[in-house]
Amino acid sequence: MNTMTRAASETGDPLLLTPGPLTTSRSVKQAMVHDWGSRDDGFIRINREVLARVAELADATQTHVTVPMQGSGTFAVEAMLTSFVPAGGKVALLVNGAYGHRAKKILDIARRAVVAIETAEDKPVDVAALDRLLAADKTVSHVFVVHCETTSGVLNPLEQVSATAARHGRALLIDAMSAFGAIPLSAKTIRFDAMAASSNKCLEGVPGLGFVLCRKEALAKCKGNATSLTLDLEDQWSAFERTGQYRFTPPIHVIVALHQAIAEHAAEGGVAGRGGRYSANCRILIEGMRALGFETLLPDALQAPIIVTFRMPTDPAFVFQAFYDKLKARGFIIYPGKLTVADSFRIGCIGRIGGDQMRLALQAVTEVLNELGVRQPLRRAA
Ligand SMILES: *Cc1c(COP(=O)(O)O)cnc(C)c1O
Repeated sequence: MNTMTRAASETGDPLLLTPGPLTTSRSVKQAMVHDWGSRDDGFIRINREVLARVAELADATQTHVTVPMQGSGTFAVEAMLTSFVPAGGKVALLVNGAYGHRAKKILDIARRAVVAIETAEDKPVDVAALDRLLAADKTVSHVFVVHCETTSGVLNPLEQVSATAARHGRALLIDAMSAFGAIPLSAKTIRFDAMAASSNKCLEGVPGLGFVLCRKEALAKCKGNATSLTLDLEDQWSAFERTGQYRFTPPIHVIVALHQAIAEHAAEGGVAGRGGRYSANCRILIEGMRALGFETLLPDALQAPIIVTFRMPTDPAFVFQAFYDKLKARGFIIYPGKLTVADSFRIGCIGRIGGDQMRLALQAVTEVLNELGVRQPLRRAA
């Protein structure tokens, strides 16, 4: 009888090969098995360390402060956009996927003027078009870009976007959610007013806390911009300055787990170490899947080592739901596609997973293809 490949996390759970939430270590989850009061000195110290460490990861200690925001990553993005863009502002949005579209929706609801520069999901954002727009439209106050567009996994040219915005004297707002902690982003080389990220992606914490790195002078000018009480970053920060505390109940367990996760990130060698493991995962995945006959959406030069989009097989024997279920039975959770340009599915390379697990995932894919009777994934139907 054939033995079936089986994989599990340190706590016996399926491995999450998704864009988040991700597989976390046992020690990160174990950090949560206590209670703390929100005014407890121990918790206040841990929170302060977390905020300081986040700024250090972006070389931003001198120039920026980390303002935490309760909620998932989108809460932090919405807090960033609605706190930084004043009523008379206008945002040039660089859009090449769902997270760019989401930023537009946030700004539309907040009744902020936007101009979107949209490119296809399998292309990086268009820096030349941004340059032309900023030259032509002096009313644009801010530029928004997503570092790694998780919709496809494409890495956007952040340095060029930042240089273009800076040359035209406009402020840059970055959604670095899926890249922060694994792809270098230094405030010394990338000029930004704000950058949003979260606890549960490349930092490998649990979900529940977003944060925004805010340029100090820019944040000071945000008073009165916010369109809601809860998502007001300037007010959240002023409260910290005055009291050292959150205005509303903090997700204490999430923050304590993030403190542990950041210690593990440092032990792995920081951004270089974490990014190195993910890059190795990504290479193993792409080479192995190509050897099985799959095609990636993106050429390697555009691929961030975060999540990989594969074209949906055309072999009539391939049924995505069966493929998904059979991988899940082997301990691997993959992710459906979110593209409009092509039918696809995604496999993530981030979270507490390494080369051995990626190789097991490829073994599981091989078994599942055999079970389904798929011999050439991209074979055209006769
Ligand atoms: C995950 C992610 C977010 C936030 O998503 P939530 O589901 O709100 O956590 C925002 N932007 C990008 C690019 C992401 O990958």
